[in-house]
This record gives sequence, C-alpha cells and structure tokens, in this order.
Amino acid sequence: MVGNDPGKGTVTGGVTRLSLLAPLDGWAAPLEEVPDPVFAQRMMGDGLAIDPTGGTLRAPCDGVVIAIHRARHAVTLRAECGVEILMHIGLETVALGGRGFTVHTTEGAAVRAGDALIEFDMDLLAREAKSLVTPLVIAGGPSATVVAAKTGVAVRAGEVLLTLLVQGRGSARADGAGVARGSAAGAERSLVLPLAHGLHARPAAVLAAAAKPFAAAVHLVAQGRRANAKSAVAAMSLGLRHGDALTVVGEGADATAAVAAVADAIAAGLGETPVPPPAALPVPSLPSAAVPPPDEPPALEVQPPFAPGETAVIRAVTAAPGLALGRAFRLEDEEVEVPASGRGAEAERTLLAAALKRVRARLGAAVAQSEAAGQAQRRDIFRAHLAILDDPELLDEALAAISGGEAAGVAWRAATDRRATALRALGNPRMAERAADLIDLRRQVMLALAGREPQPVILPQGAILVAEELMPSQLSNLDAGRLAGFCTARGGPTSHVAILAASMGVPALVAGGAAVLRIPDDAPLILDADRGLLHVQPPAEDLARLERETGQRQARTEANLRAAAADCVMADGTRIEVYTNVGKVADAVKGVAKGAEGCGLLRTEFLFLDRQTAPDEDEQAAQYQAVATALAGRPLIIRTLDVGGDKPLPYLPLPREENPILGLRGVRIGLRRPEILRTQLRAILRVRPVGQCRIMVPMVATLDEVRAVRDMLDQEREALGHAPPVQLGVMVETPAAAVTADQLATEADFLSIGTNDLTQYVLAMDRGNPDLAARLDALHPAVLRLIRQTAEGAARHGRWVGVCGALASDPAAAPLLVGLGVTELSATPPAIPDIKAALRPLDKAACAALAREALAQESAAAVRSLLARAGMAVSVMEGAA
Ligand code: PEP
Ligand code: MG
Repeated sequence: MVGNDPGKGTVTGGVTRLSLLAPLDGWAAPLEEVPDPVFAQRMMGDGLAIDPTGGTLRAPCDGVVIAIHRARHAVTLRAECGVEILMHIGLETVALGGRGFTVHTTEGAAVRAGDALIEFDMDLLAREAKSLVTPLVIAGGPSATVVAAKTGVAVRAGEVLLTLLVQGRGSARADGAGVARGSAAGAERSLVLPLAHGLHARPAAVLAAAAKPFAAAVHLVAQGRRANAKSAVAAMSLGLRHGDALTVVGEGADATAAVAAVADAIAAGLGETPVPPPAALPVPSLPSAAVPPPDEPPALEVQPPFAPGETAVIRAVTAAPGLALGRAFRLEDEEVEVPASGRGAEAERTLLAAALKRVRARLGAAVAQSEAAGQAQRRDIFRAHLAILDDPELLDEALAAISGGEAAGVAWRAATDRRATALRALGNPRMAERAADLIDLRRQVMLALAGREPQPVILPQGAILVAEELMPSQLSNLDAGRLAGFCTARGGPTSHVAILAASMGVPALVAGGAAVLRIPDDAPLILDADRGLLHVQPPAEDLARLERETGQRQARTEANLRAAAADCVMADGTRIEVYTNVGKVADAVKGVAKGAEGCGLLRTEFLFLDRQTAPDEDEQAAQYQAVATALAGRPLIIRTLDVGGDKPLPYLPLPREENPILGLRGVRIGLRRPEILRTQLRAILRVRPVGQCRIMVPMVATLDEVRAVRDMLDQEREALGHAPPVQLGVMVETPAAAVTADQLATEADFLSIGTNDLTQYVLAMDRGNPDLAARLDALHPAVLRLIRQTAEGAARHGRWVGVCGALASDPAAAPLLVGLGVTELSATPPAIPDIKAALRPLDKAACAALAREALAQESAAAVRSLLARAGMAVSVMEGAA
C-alpha cells in the first residue's frame, strides 16, 4: 500500500517510510532532555521521550514483541521492516522488580499499532522511580533515519509521533539490547565532560596525576585543539565546559591502559561529583592545522592618579562583605629583576630546578599548615598551585627556551605569561581567574631565581590594599590583623583570592576596573563591600561622618536590632512588611531573629543543591515544613524551582543552550516538565498550618504561564481532596512581566520583583559577568521605571507588590522602593533591622517625592547620590530620634 498508513511501513525504492504512533498520552520531548546519559547521549539509539500522563503503553506500530524485560518495565518490538523499537517506561524502574507493571502481551506475539502492551501504576512510579519519562528509541535492525519527530508538544496515544526512513532490511536482533555508539577503537576514547564548572584548576590537576604514571603520551582533543593530559595547565587551556565533548588519545606502549585510566578519571568527576552531561555532542576531530594563539586581554587604561582632594566612588564586585575605613596601600606587582642572558643551558636548567624546588617546598609547607588548621579551601588552593608548578608542559616550554639560549628567568616568565594569556582569552571568567594563579607562580619562581624570599608586606595598621590583581600567595603573606580590606582592578568573585578573603573575614571588592589604579597611596578610603562601593577621598565631612557612623554603627545596629521584632510602621501609619529571603532552614531562623515578619522568597532550588537525585514529594514537604515551622506561623512565600540559566542542578540535566540566560529557566522548565512542578505544588500543599504558605512563580513572561500554573495548582488541590485555596504570586523578573503587570495582576494574587534578573534583562547585561558587574545597577532609572509600572499595574487590581531581589536588602533604597509603590521587602537577614529603622521615621509622601526625583535622574550613579543625600537625612532623623 502506498500512502500514509500510520503504524505500517510504506516502501518506495527499497526505502521504507515508517510512522510510529505515540505509545502514551503525555508530553513529547527530545532525548537530550532525558535525565539519563545512556538515553540522552543516544547510546541506545535515536528516538524521543514521552513524559506520560496516562498509564498504558501501546504498540507504536504493527510488529512482533521480541523482548519483554524481566522487570516488565521495558519492551522491544520489531516492525515489519525489521526496525527494532525499545520503549523503556520511566527511569531506573528496573529497581522496582516488576512492581507496578502489568504486561498484556508475550514475547513472540504479533501486535497491531495501538494494542495495549504494558499498564503501569503512575503513582507508584512517581513515588519510587527516578522519573516517569519514557524513552522510545530505535535500538536495532536496519539503518533508520528519523526524518520527523514531534517534540515539545503534548501528544495523545495513537497520533503520529515519529517518522523513519529505513534502508533495506537488516538482521533483526532478538535481545532488544541497545546499540552503543561512541568509539572505543585503539587507544582513544570519547566522552563528554561531567564537571559542572568545566575543567578548572583542581580537576585539571587530578587529570594530570592520572595520566602521569603512564609512559604513553596522553592528549585531550577537543574543539579542534589538542592538549597534553599530563599538563594541568595545558588541559585547563582548552577551556572545556560542562557537557563539552572531548577525546582522550594515547600513543605508546601502555596507551590503552593510559586512555582507560584517564577517561575513567574524567567520567568519575576528577575529584568532583560528576554531573551527567545534558546532551550528546559531536566527537571532535584532531586538529589539522596549528591553532592561532589567542589575543592578549585588553590592558587596563592608564589614567593619571586622582588629584589630592578629588572624590570618586568606584563600583566593584563584592568578593567578601563588610565595611572598612582606612588609607590606601598600593601593592605594586614588583618586577623581579633576573639576568636577561643565560650562562649556558646546563647552568640555567640547574638554576630553574633549584628555584622550583624552593617554591615547591614553600607550597608544601602551606598545604601542611592549612591542613593542620582545618582550612580545606586554603589547602586545596595551595595544592592546585603545586600541581601547576609540576606541570610538564610549562616546564618543557621553559626548558626548550633555555636550550635555545634564554636565561632561566626569561624562559619561565615567557612560558607562564603565554599560558596566562591563553586562559584569559578563553572568554570564560572562571578560567580568567585561574590566570592569576599562574602569574602568582611566575612571581614566586622569579623571586626564587633572584635569590629572594617573598617578603611579608609590612602594612600600616588599617590599610586598605589596592592593586591591579592580588595573588593568593600575596594575600596569605599579609598580616590580616593590619589589613582592613582590599579592592582590585581585575579579578572575579569566585577567584581564589576572593575565597581566601572571605575565609579571613576581610571585606573585599574585585573587578573595580582601571579607576582602582588611579588611587594614590595613603588616600583615605571607605570600602563598603556590602554595597560594592569604594569611596575614594570622600569629602572630609563624609569621612568624618562615616568615621563617626562606623563608630556608632555598633550601637545603632544593636538599637535597630532591639526594635526589629516590632512591625515596620512608618511615621504616617503606612505598614511595610519586611520579610527575609531564605535558601536553607537556618536562614529562616536567622531572619526571624533579625525581625523578619515572614519569608518573601524561599529559593527552593537551594534546598536541594548538593544531591544527585531529585527530591521526592515527601522530602520536599519535609523541608518546606521545616522552614514553615522555623517561621513560627509567619507567612512563607515558596518560589517554585528556579533552575536553568546560571543555576544548574546536578539531577536535572538540561539541553545545552546557546543562550542559557534567555533559555529554559524558571517556570519554562516547570511547564515543560510538569511532573516536577506538580510534585512541588503537592509538597507545598501539604505544609501545615494551612494558609501559611503562598506560592510564587519565577521568570514569568506571559499571562498564559500563570494560567497554566494556576490550572495545575487547582488540579492538585482537587486531587488532594479539595485542599484549601493558596495564594499564587508572580515574580516580575522580565521586562515583559513588568509592562504587563496590570494583566498579570488579574491572575496573580501578588507580584514580587526580582531586581537581580529584571536588571539583567532590562540592561541586557549578564548578571554573572564580572566585567559588567560594576554597571549592573538595579538603581538604573530604566529599572526604577519598570518597578513603578509594576506597582501601578498591580494597584489597578488591588494586588500588593514586593521586592525580593538584592535591591530590597539595601536600606538606603528602601524609601525609594516604598515611594515607587512597593509594600513588601524581602531582604537578607542582617539587613532587616536597618531597613525597618530606615523606614519608620519617614512618611509615604516623602518617599513618593524621593521616587519622583529618582525617576527623573539620568543614571544609576545620579540615583545613588540622590539616595546618599536622602540617606543622610535618614541618619540624622535616626540620630535625633
Ligand atoms: C531576582 O532575580 O532578583 C531573584 C530574587 O531571583 P534569583 O536571584 O534567585 O534569580
Ligand atoms: Mg531571579
């Protein structure tokens, strides 16, 4: 028969066109979305997956049942054209040992498209299996190509799902086993990187250690580039990210064992918990031509120093919080003088070896000390430095230059510089931060070559260090007792030096840009790391005021804290609710201790970060209940899972996206994977007392999304026996949500503005990019105008508007937000007493006047100075009160 006969093959010129029907009701999704690499990487074959809403698996075509798994969770059919189709109900369902499955057919039976094959208990699977997602894959038979597939849509059993073109007729396999792809020929193995943060320094060091015992040369090949696996630095320079494909290639006598050892080490996570890669990627080929060297990072603009008395405020990125007043201490990266010409290759080699030995000994001692002091992070940093120092590629490069006649110092400097430049040029902020580690080691070895020990820097008491970049070894050599804080021009918030600063309790800012280099030695500074601001040579009166204020801060903090338990009522009687943001149960406890009147944002994804499997309904209910109990009856706003974009979850691999920040995030995932959202809604509905919880939906862009969540919520309430209504709110994080707030407010019970994301999307600046961090200011008038628009839209329908983004934690911004129409602020616990204290003496009309003025400003900086002026008024009033 020619024509469209679903479930049967139609043959033209030896090619069979086979349409497979949906075997289940549900949501059809690409295989990449299956949270199991065996399916997601198509190791079993091509196909798709269905997230079922019905519990009967039906034959997708006419054929013969060639295998039913003993655990009754999987069945393989052979179609008339020989193609073998495996359907695997749920994931890790083999562990159920057949419970929950009823088989309606037998091996060898001929079936017709649409016949029931297996019935399954969806509730049991939802409770006990990893997932209900059911892959359907072409597992064997003749060569078949998928030419059409429905994905990203709801399907009903019996409608055409997938169309295949099948070449000739192959020998059918009777075991239903999967067809592994992937190459394992000779000493070569391809895999994808399972490291959530890419191949950074510490795992690269583990990789090098795994490769070094073998005589064979072992290389990683990825993205058309090749790197020596025995060299942590070379491996890092590939800039591999989570999910990137790579091939381990070995050459030499023990190549097979070497490749196996290295590939196994990578698959095991190189010392980190492996995170299954979200999608299969093409296996890279070996480079055919030399890769051009990467560009140098742009040098920071050199500008004249600030003139005496010239005031400035530099915005930077907080690396470690806190406030410090002090004087600038410029730390120059002193150039270490070493002889420019060599005394012969042999002598230079000996010199370099001796210098490396000295630095190695010092690092070894630092590892031991950190270990003894129980400082694991510090220890790991020094260990990573040791691994870089032992890097054979770095050494080979330096030795080659020495053989070419260079002096040891020149050779070492060139080798480390080249690597650091390559890391910075990868466009990956984490890798750029690792360049600082190389520069640090360059300096230490150069000092050793010059016969010098790194001298502890003698700091004046209360110094605020300013530098282009600070190195871990420099920071750990400083007298922390004298160091009030530091600010660097470069660097990022996840750099090793930032981690060290936080562990030392030193307030620190990074990525302040070229302006940091303009700060003269001894200039008076106020380092406000809580707000990401460095005040340079503040006016004498400001300094005096801030000095006084810092002195009084303790007293005021205590006074504010004493008053924090009371509700926040402004001078004119306006009631503002001050809530806390919560990421773990302890935050709720802290928040209440600081006067939180409820929780305005429970970031549920934070409760379940360190795990490999999705929390089930019971676990979620228990965690939400724990937060509710810690709040002792105060309102609890639970945000549904907000993952995707910059927030990966190990147990929820997502397809690799070109623009993850604009991709599958927040509610988009909840609607795409309704079983996740439904489980969460059910867990929330179980929290007692009834009425304490409200639900909030992240990353909403359209009214449809809110309606879809509302429908699901109603269905789940119904399923739980008419559970009482629960308020459903919407996070305003997209410009679309802000400008359509009047429409969203018809469906939502409240709106809460996520200023972090709203700012990112309004300014089109990635919130995770340290180069943009200083300009990513939520006080930008464009953001403020959207906040006002949100408040106006919501007011039309009598809905309240809160702010739960970081702007809500800035006491100076509180009067402005109230003036814009916000009536709830959800802040970090330490900010709560100060926010209440800032608002209480004010009245709504004064705040509205301030807001009007702010909206007319031309820049975030102008708004900031307006608030600073208003802030003084607040302090004065507080002082007078
Ligand atoms: C926000 O975007 O402001 C927000 C509160 O959500 P998150 O920071 O968790 O993305
Ligand atoms: Mg957000």
